[in-house]
Amino acid sequence: MSEENQPSYARCRNVCDALVAAKHVLVFSGAGVSVPSGLPDFRSNKGLWLKYPPEEYATIEVFHRYPKKFWELNFQLFKDFDGIEPNAAHLALAKLETLGLKVTIATQNIDGLHQAAGSTRVLELHGGKDNLKCLYCKSMYPVKDWTFVEGEIPKCKKCTAVLKPDVVYFGEALPEQTLEEAMTAAEDCDVCLAIGTSAVVFPAAMLPGVAHKSGASVCEFNLEPTDLTRSGQVAHFIEGPVEKTLPHLAELVEKAMGNATQEGSSS
Ligand SMILES: [Zn+2]
Repeated sequence: MSEENQPSYARCRNVCDALVAAKHVLVFSGAGVSVPSGLPDFRSNKGLWLKYPPEEYATIEVFHRYPKKFWELNFQLFKDFDGIEPNAAHLALAKLETLGLKVTIATQNIDGLHQAAGSTRVLELHGGKDNLKCLYCKSMYPVKDWTFVEGEIPKCKKCTAVLKPDVVYFGEALPEQTLEEAMTAAEDCDVCLAIGTSAVVFPAAMLPGVAHKSGASVCEFNLEPTDLTRSGQVAHFIEGPVEKTLPHLAELVEKAMGNATQEGSSS
């Protein structure tokens, strides 16, 4: 059986039809989108997260009480981010935008790869890796200008407090305005693509449900169905590696929109 004939690829046509008719598309993305770029999934129990269980190391409590332990994980994390590139899944999502669709991406990822791929409306629900923040005097320091010294905890140059990456750790609230904008997009969208997310970390995981309640068609792209699909809120589940299924989808949309333009110009 060729890839094209597999059931998920056939279902991509339904998603394509929905996208072509949509006025606003919300993409809700998680770690699965970045796995093909070489970043480990939080929940995969591989590498980094096996050595540093996120619930134990990536918490705001550990930051306050054991900054050295907290930074042990974060030094590794920044090393992992070094030199990573967007993959075919990120590029396919950016392509949807260049094809003329209004796409808002609400991502749980902190790696900046959607922006690197060219997507312009990206809401980072869990913050991003690009800045260090002082929680006391609110100073921000771009990571690219910071010289990390192994074993040395980064401290604020103004007030000497320990710096924290501008990332939402376990036990911290999500950036209010970003979450609000994402909720508004969920209410406003006609199609919501939930991609590579186990959709278990709330409140971000509410977004597909809000979209569904507001009448949007929710489509899940993942290696296996999650609770989201099992909850019956998903119109189409596309099974398979997102770095394959999403480029296929973008190609279908490109063809469909090309045909629509031709029909438009011949009439
Ligand atoms: Zn400070």
